[in-house]
Amino acid sequence: MSSISEAGVVTSVDKELFIGGKWLPAADGKTFPVLDPSTGEALCEVADASPADGVSALDAAVAAQADWANVAPRERGEILRRAYELLIKRADELALLMTLEMGKPLAESKGEITYAAEFFRWFAEEAVRIDGGYAVAPNGTGRFLVTKQPVGPCLLITPWNFPMAMGTRKIGPAVAAGCTMVIKPAAQTPLSMLALAAILAEAGLPEGVLNVLTTSDSGGVMEPLIRDGRARKLSFTGSTGVGRKLLEQCADKVLRTSMELGGNAPFLVFEDADLDAAVEGAMTAKMRNIGEACTAANRFYVQRGIVDEFSRRLTERMEALPMGRGTEEGVVVGPLIDEAAVEKVSGLVSDATERGARVLTGGSTVDGPGNFYQATVLTDVPKDARLASEEIFGPVAPITPFDSEDEAIAAANDTEFGLVSYVYTSDLKRALRVSERLEAGMIGLNQGLVSNPAAPFGGIKQSGLGREGGTVGIDEFLETKYIAVAL
Ligand code: NAP
Repeated sequence: MSSISEAGVVTSVDKELFIGGKWLPAADGKTFPVLDPSTGEALCEVADASPADGVSALDAAVAAQADWANVAPRERGEILRRAYELLIKRADELALLMTLEMGKPLAESKGEITYAAEFFRWFAEEAVRIDGGYAVAPNGTGRFLVTKQPVGPCLLITPWNFPMAMGTRKIGPAVAAGCTMVIKPAAQTPLSMLALAAILAEAGLPEGVLNVLTTSDSGGVMEPLIRDGRARKLSFTGSTGVGRKLLEQCADKVLRTSMELGGNAPFLVFEDADLDAAVEGAMTAKMRNIGEACTAANRFYVQRGIVDEFSRRLTERMEALPMGRGTEEGVVVGPLIDEAAVEKVSGLVSDATERGARVLTGGSTVDGPGNFYQATVLTDVPKDARLASEEIFGPVAPITPFDSEDEAIAAANDTEFGLVSYVYTSDLKRALRVSERLEAGMIGLNQGLVSNPAAPFGGIKQSGLGREGGTVGIDEFLETKYIAVAL
């Protein structure tokens, strides 16, 4: 760990709005506090943007768009590459900052900084690979030219659970494509985004290309920008409920949208699976980010012949996880983001036990300070338990046995969500058959982690629209233009 102190790392961040390349206080001078979820205490105050500040940020993005679109793709890529290197160089202090505002253990924060930086490295490489086409028209007389251009100024909204990576997954392709942007991080974790903005400026991103709004009034500030008509795209990561509302707002001016929404991932373990690998994968899929991930395994379906053994081993692993403040050495289970999150998880567990689920370990809140909930395993979870249909977003693993493949697939698909599904089996034919039948944008086949900047991340059904990362990620920020050529 670097020698930088907790107070030092918080002090080092600019806490104003980043508009047109300048750090500015909110026009009305307001600020709001950022809390440490492991203590409930305020870390600092940041500028609280008003709707008027929002318009200033959009003005800056609009003003910068034409020049930015003309910057050579190689130069745009090199800015991203420099930002990638700065992120890696400062990973320790950025990880500490993230742990302080979000709560996840330091090792996970460090992992997220690397993951976040990798989006910049990937899109630095993609910036110079934007393709086009030239073709002879079917009647032979004309020619088609096809080229891709930046969508235009974008609005980006990110959640608190991955405060840096959810930003770079949008900023990387937007920069690579030649779009300017206004980004609004979640009020609970604005510091990582502010630190990222400073890094991008240091890496040479021109004024106005990236504008950052921190605000305690996300709806009040963003809705007028969505309805303004000058921004041409909204890219949102967050809950399905908010996503739905934003889609309605976007309809007004027909904005392009990318929606990375909620999940309810099933985790299927067949009797022929490598049980060691399945338990290991279950720990990753469940406990990464303290269970506060859209990709978190939300429902475990385990074939009846191995359900007791799987449950026993998972319980042993969950019981052994050290809980505490994310800055403490060896901690794996940090605090949840806020009191409401603890109440929600607690309510879901009570509902499941009232309907007949049994607690194998955990099942309780932890006395404060901080928003802690025990790592929990539930078994015999009935179908109608609320946690079978709602995102738990906490360290709770509900297990339900199944008998047949058809039964497991039907249970897995019985949800409005379709982000990711996990399957453990050693039978290749079953692996492919089940993967094809699962209704999800991503499948973890014998692995508990799917996220990779080089792969297309995203969901189907009510888990979203569009993909981030991979070779398709940049397309979300490009428009295709066809030029009909008469010869
Ligand atoms: P959220 O409540 O939907 O908030 C997400 C973002 O939207 C935050 O920046 C929030 O700002 C903002 N927001 C809330 N209401 C808004 C409104 N009316 N207008 C404009 N912006 C608004 O979600 P969350 O609790 O932060 O994040 C957890 C959710 O995100 C989970 O459902 C999770 O599955 C999902 N998620 C999905 C992915 C994916 O890639 N599919 C990745 C990560 C997380 P404030 O919080 O400041 O109000």
